[in-house]
Amino acid sequence: MTRAYVGLGANLGNPHRCFIDAHDALSARPDVEVSGRSAIYRSAPVGPAGQADYLNAVLALDTPLDALRLLRLLQMLENDAGRRREVRWGPRTLDLDLLLFGDEVRSEEDLTLPHPRIAERNFVLQPLLDVAGADLRLPGGERLDELLARCPANALQRTPLTWEAPSSARGGSTP
Ligand code: ATP
Ligand code: CA
Ligand code: CA
Repeated sequence: MTRAYVGLGANLGNPHRCFIDAHDALSARPDVEVSGRSAIYRSAPVGPAGQADYLNAVLALDTPLDALRLLRLLQMLENDAGRRREVRWGPRTLDLDLLLFGDEVRSEEDLTLPHPRIAERNFVLQPLLDVAGADLRLPGGERLDELLARCPANALQRTPLTWEAPSSARGGSTP
């Protein structure tokens, strides 16, 4: 079993719904256990201007899969959410980044671990800290709280959103 951390981001369609669907799809798999969930945050977009705000969160997973298989599963869930790959860092219905996979370090184009941009993104570091605790170190030895203290302060707001569908959306005929 490996403990993995997955970063979620979305700013198109219904981001909260997409987070819940991805969470539920992961929970339903026999080869993945969702062992931690951060609060859900709202962040100002990076990348091309004029995009809507993002929702961001992190899930902790325990899995017997290897890192590449887990990445393929995450990409399948992105596709299920209607992800189209167009503009780099452009708007998306769902982005699932493999942030950490145990202590694994690798740098292939397909899969770089740890995710190469963790340290420069407070919308990744803060939810990762929520779920992993400040003591977690990256494979290189850096502590999360120290990385967050040095990270550029992009606007980030903790929302009251939860990982359960709001009751108004439950059981109704509209998605
Ligand atoms: P960023 O990587 O800066 O967050 P992005 O999430 O918008 O940008 P994508 O278009 O989702 O980038 O992914 C581009 C490629 O990155 C994917 O094809 C994937 O194979 C590769 N990749 C490399 N390392 C990772 C990783 N740790 N997690 C997810 N994808 C990765
Ligand atoms: Ca990303
Ligand atoms: Ca991605």
